Amino acid sequence: MPVNADATDVASESEGDLPINELFYSLQGEGVLAGVPTVFIRTSGCNLRCWFCDSYHTSWEPTHAWMDVDEILAEVESHEQCEHVVVTGGEPMMHTEVVELLNQLSANGYHTTVETNGTIHRDAAIDLASISPKLASSTPTPAKDPKGEGEWEDKHEERRVDMDALSSLVEQYEFQLKFVVTGDQDMPEIESLLQRLRQSTTRRIGNDDVLLMPEGATRERLEETREATAELAMEYGYRYTPRLHVDLWNDAPGT
Ligand code: SF4
Repeated sequence: MPVNADATDVASESEGDLPINELFYSLQGEGVLAGVPTVFIRTSGCNLRCWFCDSYHTSWEPTHAWMDVDEILAEVESHEQCEHVVVTGGEPMMHTEVVELLNQLSANGYHTTVETNGTIHRDAAIDLASISPKLASSTPTPAKDPKGEGEWEDKHEERRVDMDALSSLVEQYEFQLKFVVTGDQDMPEIESLLQRLRQSTTRRIGNDDVLLMPEGATRERLEETREATAELAMEYGYRYTPRLHVDLWNDAPGT
């Protein structure tokens, strides 16, 4: 059920409600659960502004309807055959109400995945923290800013890695670390970030917990990026993840 509504400032949050950009049933396209039928709850609002954001209407121009937890649960439960729920964004961990949503989903027997950029930690019923730390190549420089203004460059750069939040997420939850790869120039930063993270947590981070995902939200763009990303995964010993939903449905909304 797409619930796109009039563009509204996420800051004008109604108490107890979540800003929902879309809520739909599809296949998980990325990561260790790729291919699993899943209900997606996409919250609106993000504390970052990656230039390549594939959910533009949750970050650069947030658009949403307000829904309370009971309304969201009723919509999830209408997909009776589905056991998996992904809470994504935007950055879903921005919203305090996401904790209640995740706890209720878990109490109702769902497997919960949270897709997060790893800058905010919350204590909630999360079965898989799908953490996608943002690299320097994500920064919206004036040349790459989709709005051409460059006003988010400094804020994005300051916020994009929070080692305390990242370590806490890895310590507390089953996790995958998913990096959007734009080219081999990203690899030194990935290596360095992993080294820092491994030093800051007692949790083992295996190379197969590290996923390289090609940048690209359309089939055409993935044609250009996926082979090089797969070769980097082999070279460094990390896991390659496809973007199945793009292969299947290109950039259609609600997939
Ligand atoms: S962190 Fe995710 S949702 Fe936020 S701007 Fe980057 S890609 Fe978009």
